[in-house]
Amino acid sequence: MALHITNSLTRKKEPFVPLREGHVGIYVCGPTVYGHAHIGHAKSFISFDVAVRYLRHLGHRVRYVQNITDVGHLTDDTTGMADEGEDKVLKQARREQVEPMELVERYTRSYFEDMDRLNALRPDISPRASGHIPEQIDLIERLIERGLAYTRDGYVYFSIRDFKDYGKLSGRDYEEQEAGARVLVDERKRDPRDFALWKRAEPEHILRWKSPWGVGYPGWHIECSAMSMRYLGETFDIHGGGLEHTFPHHECEIAQSEGATGKPFVRVWMHNNMLTVNGVKMGKSLGNYTTVKDALREVDPQTLRLFFLNSHYRSVLDFSMEAITATGQGMERLRRTVLSLDERARTAADQESHPGFNTLLDQTRRFFTEAMDDDFNTSQAVGELFDLARVVNTYLSAGTLGRKDLEAARKLYSDLGEEVLGLGFQEPGQGVASSGAEDALISFLLDLRGEFRAQKNWAMADRVRDRLAELGYLIEDGPQGARWRRK
Ligand SMILES: [Zn+2]
Repeated sequence: MALHITNSLTRKKEPFVPLREGHVGIYVCGPTVYGHAHIGHAKSFISFDVAVRYLRHLGHRVRYVQNITDVGHLTDDTTGMADEGEDKVLKQARREQVEPMELVERYTRSYFEDMDRLNALRPDISPRASGHIPEQIDLIERLIERGLAYTRDGYVYFSIRDFKDYGKLSGRDYEEQEAGARVLVDERKRDPRDFALWKRAEPEHILRWKSPWGVGYPGWHIECSAMSMRYLGETFDIHGGGLEHTFPHHECEIAQSEGATGKPFVRVWMHNNMLTVNGVKMGKSLGNYTTVKDALREVDPQTLRLFFLNSHYRSVLDFSMEAITATGQGMERLRRTVLSLDERARTAADQESHPGFNTLLDQTRRFFTEAMDDDFNTSQAVGELFDLARVVNTYLSAGTLGRKDLEAARKLYSDLGEEVLGLGFQEPGQGVASSGAEDALISFLLDLRGEFRAQKNWAMADRVRDRLAELGYLIEDGPQGARWRRK
């Protein structure tokens, strides 16, 4: 079976065929940078990280674009349809008493810092909405020219009535869409469902740009249409995002893009389901809002990553400390198995390959690939790695494997566990997150010990090792040099 993806647009699991053979363009709606990312964001971004990794593993050249929303997302905009309210960035900038762009910079860095710790690959392009205003203005002008948008008082609205396909992604009919538009006693609009492409900036609105319709700023939806098409073309392969953005955000993206170009916008829409905390939807007002930084103070990043991968991206996942503890124990078992393979391979004899063992590895690769081909079924793929670990441990206890077998098993864990799933087996684990400063200090001491060893100053080298051990750090020498972990 080749890769199949559940396409929200057709509501079917379909074989994935890229528009241009060997190349895949993927756009994922990124964070609005006015606060630290929470663990629900992390679930979403890790789902798409694994999708990108797997597409690359299959040999595709992937261009992965994920935007940074730094303008236009309004506070009242839980539905995305509100055209009033404050800009989230401006409001928070006032609260923190910084320039809006200072705030944006702060939380953009914070976001990447979190994603780096969770071992999510950086997107190839991270375009910012505020850096693509001309593209957004161009797109709006095209929509006006094609009779799909109209201007009123410095505002530009998309005219839903004139775009017949509106609703095709979410499957909402007219009444439901109107209900989604809630508020709206807005006399500027011809139809309550119409949404703003451009808004007039009031004097206190300091994020503002000149446009053919006066000084203003873009609506939230238009940035994703403009930036995705700028970098991936007018029709591209995959668009990802949270399920909660299907309507109206993604519906509006389709209307804007297809309205302007007359071409299909996205071939496959992928939607990630939400994270609940102890069975309850996460929300700032509910007091169960957990940032990635808070979570990583108590949870090892690899464990958190594995926790997300243990469920399917289209399922709701519940975060609880019991579930995390269980995952942490699993991660540790897997890590120990992989490190044992490394350790044994260093001293094992060169002997004929164990025939049964090779078959087992081939089978695991096949089952893993079948799971991933089935709409990125990471929970099953992870299960294959655990099943293999159990058998590997039996072989390790029996001591029947030669170097080649051990290395082949290790390679399987690198290819599938590290490369595709993004799990790090080398990193200090034990369910305790380490700080960057700690990493740097221990690495420095290990370098120092390496130099002592190179000078054959064994006494000093051992002193460093023993002293670290007293402090609770175990040092293990491996082919890639010395590693450490907490006892
Ligand atoms: Zn978006």
